[in-house]
Amino acid sequence: MEKKTLSFQAEVQQILHLVTHSLYSNKEIFLRELISNASDACDKLRFEALDKAELFEDQPNLEVRILVDAANKTLTIRDNGIGMSAEEAVANLGTIAKSGTREFMSRLEGDQKKDAQLIGQFGVGFYSGFIVADRITVETRRAGVPADQGVRWSSGGTGEFEVETITKASRGTDIILHLREGEDEDYLKSWKLKQVIGKYSDHISLPILMQKEEWDKDKSEYVTQDEWETVNKAAALWARSKSDVTDAEYQAFYQQISYDQSAPLAYTHNRVEGRSEYTQLLYIPAKAPFDLWNRDKRGGVKLYVKRVFIMDDAEALMPVYLRFVKGVIDSNDLPLNVSRELLQESRDVKAIREGSTKRVLSMLESLADSDNADDKRKYADFWKEFGAVLKEGIGEDMANRERLSKLLRFASTHGTGDEPEVSFADYVGRMKEGQEAIYYITADTLAAAKNSPQLEIFRKKGIEVLLLSDRVDEWMLSHLYEFDGKPLQSIAKGAVDLGKLQDEEEKKQAEAAAEAFKPVLDKIKEALKDRAKDVRATTRLVDSPACLVVEEGDMSGHLARLLKQAGQAAPASQPILEVNPSHALVKKLESDEAHFADLAHLLFDQAVLAEGGALENPAEHVQRVTRLLVA
Ligand code: ADP
Repeated sequence: MEKKTLSFQAEVQQILHLVTHSLYSNKEIFLRELISNASDACDKLRFEALDKAELFEDQPNLEVRILVDAANKTLTIRDNGIGMSAEEAVANLGTIAKSGTREFMSRLEGDQKKDAQLIGQFGVGFYSGFIVADRITVETRRAGVPADQGVRWSSGGTGEFEVETITKASRGTDIILHLREGEDEDYLKSWKLKQVIGKYSDHISLPILMQKEEWDKDKSEYVTQDEWETVNKAAALWARSKSDVTDAEYQAFYQQISYDQSAPLAYTHNRVEGRSEYTQLLYIPAKAPFDLWNRDKRGGVKLYVKRVFIMDDAEALMPVYLRFVKGVIDSNDLPLNVSRELLQESRDVKAIREGSTKRVLSMLESLADSDNADDKRKYADFWKEFGAVLKEGIGEDMANRERLSKLLRFASTHGTGDEPEVSFADYVGRMKEGQEAIYYITADTLAAAKNSPQLEIFRKKGIEVLLLSDRVDEWMLSHLYEFDGKPLQSIAKGAVDLGKLQDEEEKKQAEAAAEAFKPVLDKIKEALKDRAKDVRATTRLVDSPACLVVEEGDMSGHLARLLKQAGQAAPASQPILEVNPSHALVKKLESDEAHFADLAHLLFDQAVLAEGGALENPAEHVQRVTRLLVA
């Protein structure tokens, strides 16, 4: 191939501009990114060579070398990994395949440290080389192809890059950074490079080699020797014994695999023996990633088999509802050539998934049940970030449903109702004498739940109600009927049944009032016959004139709205309008014959609005209100 000049994809140009113009306070991360790419390339080779041993070309020892050329002011990161063909070099280094760019841009906060961390997370790590280099030359050859099919890629980091065919004897990739004026001071010094490698890349399981330096007395300077030395630990962290790994090392490893700058909330490291032998190192992050809600996103657990990297994001190793967990599973039993399809069926994998799920749940339980204030706060933070995802587990993981239900937290009418901090156990502990059910209400938002008219009688009687406003709540509740033998009861479904909590006298009075009110009710029902399935008097309300409820077994208004938002057809079932016979507006209805129909519809409209619903015909509502105001 003749030398040709190509343009970067527009997104890459944006990234490059950003990298060179704003990431100058945490420059050293470029080395971590390039070493990480080199290590990935070696992992890929090892994987492809599992059934194509010739790819090793008699050079099975995978490694990364860092070369300093002080005279030419270049720093080279060399790997003997998979390498790239010309097409791959153009595609991989000239475009960004993932949808990461826009997310990356939108996430930038202007905080140098945080922004620099994001670079790796969004798959744009290679370009970080331009933080310190004004030109990058990549010389690469794919494993298994002839030496004369090497490629040279080169760019000054602005709009264009060049590619041409070269001869490259050794397989793999050289990333040659032509250091910018000023950067050469730092990044041509061995000690500085070693320091940066120690900080970020110690846990890379490949050896990272640098040439030894010795003090030359005559020249009064360090002189590079021909001998190479390994400058990282080069041992897989999870394969080391727990007692040999420090907390700081666990944290650094977490950052390396997650690109998350904050410390993990908790982690667990175990060697599991028994039917299936494996090592697990699992972390619970403190912050949710930007794509947490994408259920198709693969998991965050990497699979290794006997220390050999097999795949990233092995979703079969964790249930979907634990997709936020990061870490490594290293199996001793799986075959090295295991594929994603095989993983789905393997009994060993099933055992690993079950064992790992239990570990994660125990980590969460030990935070949730701890007496230590710090742990408690951690669990509260976890819940805010990941609670709604954990709720998916109630429907998905029958075997652990009971354990999961103990981990659930809700906002409730006990206390301020603003924080999800009440567990079922807390609720049950506060249940009134004679109370049989756990009461809850679902709504589109917490504010709507908190202000639901249906709550009034419960407030008055001091009965706690759980306030549910996550999108998954309705779905979760379709899989969870009880806790500790107490049924879960929606206060917006069916008739109010306070059971033993209602005293007999009150009940009788209410029944008498309803009887006397019946003729009016029948008239309202007639006026609203196209909108309400039924109209009835209620004891549910104290301050509000009316509210909507649905029949037991019917879909709540909240769920119907969610389905509609998701573009799905909700079965058309009409709600029941419940009215409060002692409310002034309802009394007015009894006496105001002329505006009866308007008032009846207004009652219904108000009830729709109060539960966060939208009026089907707002214009009619406005006309009605106007007529009533001028009357
Ligand atoms: P990411 O590594 O997250 O995909 P990068 O911008 O760091 O994003 O790299 C882009 C792509 O370039 C990589 O996915 C890989 O295919 C290729 N690449 C980068 N460095 C190397 C290397 N040393 N050897 C082989 N391929 C590489």
